[in-house]
Amino acid sequence: MTARTHHEAIVLGAGVSGIYQIKRLADLGIDSILLEADDDLGGTWYRNRYPGARFDSESYTYGYSFSKELLDEWHWKERFSSQPENLRYLNYVADKFDLRRHMRFNARVTSMAWQEESQVWHLTLEDGEMFSARFVITGIGVLSVPTPPRYPGMEDFEGEAFHTFWWPQEPVPLSGRRVGVIGTGATGIQVIGEIADKVGQLTVFQRRPNWSTPLNNSPISDQEMAEIRARYDEIFANCAASPNGFEHVPDRRGFYALSPEERRATWDALYDQPGFALLAGNFPEIFFDEAANREISDYIAERIRGRVHDPETAEKLIPKDHGFGMQRLPLETHYFEAYNRDNVRLVDISQTPIERITATGIQTVAEQIDLDLIVYATGFDAITGGFDQMEISGAGGQQLGEKWRQGPSTFLGLMSHGFPNLLMIAGPQSVSGSTNFPRAIEGAVDWATDLLVHARARGCTRFEATAEAERAWVDQVMAVHEKMLARRSQGWF
Ligand code: NAP
Repeated sequence: MTARTHHEAIVLGAGVSGIYQIKRLADLGIDSILLEADDDLGGTWYRNRYPGARFDSESYTYGYSFSKELLDEWHWKERFSSQPENLRYLNYVADKFDLRRHMRFNARVTSMAWQEESQVWHLTLEDGEMFSARFVITGIGVLSVPTPPRYPGMEDFEGEAFHTFWWPQEPVPLSGRRVGVIGTGATGIQVIGEIADKVGQLTVFQRRPNWSTPLNNSPISDQEMAEIRARYDEIFANCAASPNGFEHVPDRRGFYALSPEERRATWDALYDQPGFALLAGNFPEIFFDEAANREISDYIAERIRGRVHDPETAEKLIPKDHGFGMQRLPLETHYFEAYNRDNVRLVDISQTPIERITATGIQTVAEQIDLDLIVYATGFDAITGGFDQMEISGAGGQQLGEKWRQGPSTFLGLMSHGFPNLLMIAGPQSVSGSTNFPRAIEGAVDWATDLLVHARARGCTRFEATAEAERAWVDQVMAVHEKMLARRSQGWF
């Protein structure tokens, strides 16, 4: 039988969460290793290499806050930095703090089983290698399991085809090619805006439109970066004080305290501001009050009509089944203008569904569209997808997948009753999925690390969230959710 390698702590995943978590453990001198399924570090920013992939959080609010030296050294080149630069940043962090020596790549954990007698986890990799650890901390991502569609004939296509998550590392030729993009979420909207003027023909296959507002990206000069550096303490304090981890501040003057003209003037100003200003700097009433939400939705619809020349196309791009801010808001760069180009066409597959993928393209119920490249921007098995990839059995052999069959249940999104010594960074029912990600995960990593320090200092070998604490947290999450109009939305968010 193969021997098991023991570490006191094992971290799963070398994305934004795992990199910081392994740093905390290494600094404390805790014997630990990070196991990453992929062949290098970076998580989201290693995988999503599609054109247009970039932050929609201000870069300087997305970076780690834990090291003054790092903050002083790194120059963000754009307000919303692009994927290649983001991956360079994460590599810079890993190299600066010499973290790679704690990481193992191509190490996909397929099962984890809690051992009550010895109070350790047994982990098994895909290739059969075995580990054990007193503590396991997951940083497996909230959007790490892509979901390509399941159309008949996908394997027959003779051109190139891939999900955006698997966009190849080597350059993909676009010039002169007939490209089809399926999906108009945050990813599709970034891809479409970026490639419309680079491809021969672009056909967008849209099932449901999304609300989308301008990203308003811009470069960051040396002088601006110096100003940002001088303001870092204030920036992170602002993010910590805001509901979403951004510097944008909700407008609390009262939706109904202002006249419709004043509200409109506010929105006109927000529309031209960078990032999530229009969402996070808006009146909180738009998320809870139907009339307020209808008014902002009508305003954004008008903006779309003003940008898309063909009225029929504009109507197709305006969501009718949900209000503004009820699903995750994609931010765009020239997205709506793309549809004014002669080489771009919108196919509404809610009207003319895709029947199958053929050898030469996509067959809808109405027509055959010939393509050289098909891009599946069809999203992810969000939040719990990464957990479902592993067989996780806790105390008494209970399976996590079984426990969560009717929906996940956690304490603070960090622990789940019955699964001792297991901590989840950005787990279900944590704030991490719906906020400026690193701002939330730094708090979660610090909390998890403090718990380990506390347990070790007391010689405590087993901890677990109580069922009562978990119930109270789930109730609190559901109570907030119940108040939000977004509860009716179909999106994953
Ligand atoms: P998504 O929001 O789930 O959107 C998937 C799109 O594909 C939707 O338009 C969906 O249509 C469509 N779709 C799914 N299955 C389909 C099928 N079988 N046939 C046709 N259409 C199908 O996924 P995403 O765009 O990848 O975004 C996921 C999340 O990633 C975002 O919400 C965001 O949190 C994150 N993200 C962040 C950034 C960033 O700027 N930092 C960029 C991209 C993504 P329906 O709406 O009809 O289901």
